[in-house]
Amino acid sequence: MTTTVRFAPSPTGYIHIGNARTALFNWLFALKTGGRFLLRYDDTDRLRSKQEYADAIAADLAWLGIRPDATARQSDRFDRYDAVKADLAARGLLYPCYETAEELDFARKRRRSRGLPPIYDRAALKLTADNRAQLEAEGRRPHWRFLLPNFDADPLQPARREVHWNDLCRGPETVDLGSLSDPVLVREDGTYLYTLPSVIDDVDFGITHVIRGEDHVTNTGVQIAIFQALGGHVPAFGHHNLLTDTSGEGLSKRTGALSIRSLREKGLEPEAVAALAVGIGTSHAVEAVSQVADLAGDFDLSAASRSAARFDPADLDHLNARIVHGLPFDRVAPRLQAMGISPDPAFWAAVAGNCATFADAKLWWQVVTGPVTAVGSPDDAEFLKQAKALLPDEPFDGETFKRWTDAIKDATGRKGKALFMPLRQALTGLDHGPEMAALLPLIGRQEAERRLDTTAGS
Ligand code: GLU
Repeated sequence: MTTTVRFAPSPTGYIHIGNARTALFNWLFALKTGGRFLLRYDDTDRLRSKQEYADAIAADLAWLGIRPDATARQSDRFDRYDAVKADLAARGLLYPCYETAEELDFARKRRRSRGLPPIYDRAALKLTADNRAQLEAEGRRPHWRFLLPNFDADPLQPARREVHWNDLCRGPETVDLGSLSDPVLVREDGTYLYTLPSVIDDVDFGITHVIRGEDHVTNTGVQIAIFQALGGHVPAFGHHNLLTDTSGEGLSKRTGALSIRSLREKGLEPEAVAALAVGIGTSHAVEAVSQVADLAGDFDLSAASRSAARFDPADLDHLNARIVHGLPFDRVAPRLQAMGISPDPAFWAAVAGNCATFADAKLWWQVVTGPVTAVGSPDDAEFLKQAKALLPDEPFDGETFKRWTDAIKDATGRKGKALFMPLRQALTGLDHGPEMAALLPLIGRQEAERRLDTTAGS
């Protein structure tokens, strides 16, 4: 059976770095096993799901280098879900319940006060057809619960019933169905919660491995029971640890925190975002890869640690800078050109190490081509005049700056910072930046003279 995985976001917001981690875990697993990757929009919540978000998710995945082999949306499949719902109901595995939220809350409190676990007591199973007709006549609409297989003969006597699986990330896992309420699969208004459509789709699309966040571990116990009720193949499961922000808070699509979109707009490289999203909170070192697919080599679901991983944007900035510093010229050339920078290997070699994001190249291009705003002390005016007079003839090369500064040193007696800083400030308008030896040939003699003049005030 071909490995088939899916990434199943609800299009209710922009995906964040934690969602990207799930997508990448699936994508890399598919790459590594020669499998298929399905993008499935879990859009059964029609009010909160938006096309705009679905499009944004596809665009963000593409930016990360993820190319789905197929795309599906749950809102296209309601007929199929309705058919399965009817079948489960006919088999007594899905049953109508009429309690209101307040009634359920009250029942939970009562059970707690009697020292019982606050799970649903299956009272609705005791309703007769007449009772139901009467409730409906009062205007109540049923919600539907799945009857968990956690009893021998009498569902009103639930017992411990363990579901086991060997989790691809966490190792052996157990969920006791006897400790859970029968899950609501269909709401009062007829809409589906995520639980059932997800299993139906996983069966219909031949999903072999479900890789998702560990917030779904309990769902997996329930869903395995649903897979079995549907007679479907039960996939393998892997639940990876979740990411939190630096304060330990979970990430939420709703707040837009650390959305892929915002990281992209910040000018970060997709390789940096992907490498950190995948490597953080695992036993593997985070690698500065040159393409996202390279992460597949070492990828191992069992390397994810058991505890949540803190995502620090500062780590991302550092990794991004490392990746940008190492970008080879052939990959950079078209990007420079797109920013209006003439693609000169010497320029990239000079400035790459000073770009925290690729967009910083634009600042250095401005420094090279000018105009630059003079900084520095008027006390250096005389010194700069002398320096200007000593500028070597063209052509300039990598040695020119040294020859020039040696000559200035001999003539003025200045050395160290007193020698170099006024020159840097005059030539670049800054007191830090790439090696002057590399910048000077790019600036050229004529422009260097002009800048030395301006700063010297002549
Ligand atoms: N839509 C679900 C979520 O975003 C999918 C979970 C799953 O992968 O099964 O949490």
